Amino acid sequence: MKLCGIEAGGTKFVCGISDENGNLSEQISFPTTTPEETLKQCQAFIIKHKPDALGIASFGPIDLNVKSEHYGYITTTPKSNWLYVNILGSMREVFDGPIGFDTDVNGAALGESLWGRAQDVASCLYITIGTGIGGGFVSNKQCLHGLVHPEMGHMHLASLSISDGVCPYHHNCWEGLASGPALEKRWGMKASELGSDHPAWKEEARLIGEALSTLICVLSPERILLGGGVMHQTQLFPMIRLVVKERLNGYIAHPSILTMDEHYITAPGLGDEAGLLGACALGHKAYLR
Ligand code: ADP
Ligand code: ZN
Repeated sequence: MKLCGIEAGGTKFVCGISDENGNLSEQISFPTTTPEETLKQCQAFIIKHKPDALGIASFGPIDLNVKSEHYGYITTTPKSNWLYVNILGSMREVFDGPIGFDTDVNGAALGESLWGRAQDVASCLYITIGTGIGGGFVSNKQCLHGLVHPEMGHMHLASLSISDGVCPYHHNCWEGLASGPALEKRWGMKASELGSDHPAWKEEARLIGEALSTLICVLSPERILLGGGVMHQTQLFPMIRLVVKERLNGYIAHPSILTMDEHYITAPGLGDEAGLLGACALGHKAYLR
């Protein structure tokens, strides 16, 4: 089976081809410029490779309601030239086979469930901590949708002493306080240049740990995978696990929470390919449907 994935990001787009086991063969990447230019590059990739199915894992917000007139669109994005862009319709112009369309993080959660570090469990929460913060949740191979799709990065965190958030909508939501740009504003340097023992990371672990504790109470995920640029700071993992364990305080009586070993909250098994393979996984699901 030839699956084409399109990982549609606010900074760059990645197109790739994988088989039904998540083995990537072709891959290209180009910067996100205008919709006209960028979507044409995606169309050319599809025309060249003639896949059996296509998956689009997109930055958002996106419209996932099949009954909506804007189904398949990127909607109220702060990237103004991408407002109400019909990304699915544009790919449909050149491809009449099965197309899966979902958020980048729902795609990544599905990819990890099929081919990555969540194959042995029925539910997986995937969080990216990068330019923004987003979360996707898969249970029994179904991506969680509702009114629209979850916007986990915009949850409010309780009782914090910091208030220098960068979210234009909520100021001090999780993304506002703990994304890469938030770290850069707070500490006045690139997040990647903060030393691994910088006090920034203890605070970052607290913010992430608090949010994950809430998400565990709401979703009860069997595994949590943390990706995105900020999580390249791998010293965060043990610190986050400790915060989560302390916050939940023994109430959730499951060994994953009580022991909190390195398998419950961990890095994506598909590494930096989680996004692209997530898109391919959406194509795989559409093909089976
Ligand atoms: P995006 O979210 O745009 O898809 P990334 O997941 O790569 O892209 O996230 C980019 C953000 O991650 C930037 O804000 C940057 O500050 C931060 N970042 C990238 N690499 C590192 C690193 N090694 N350590 C800490 N932060 C990083
Ligand atoms: Zn917000």
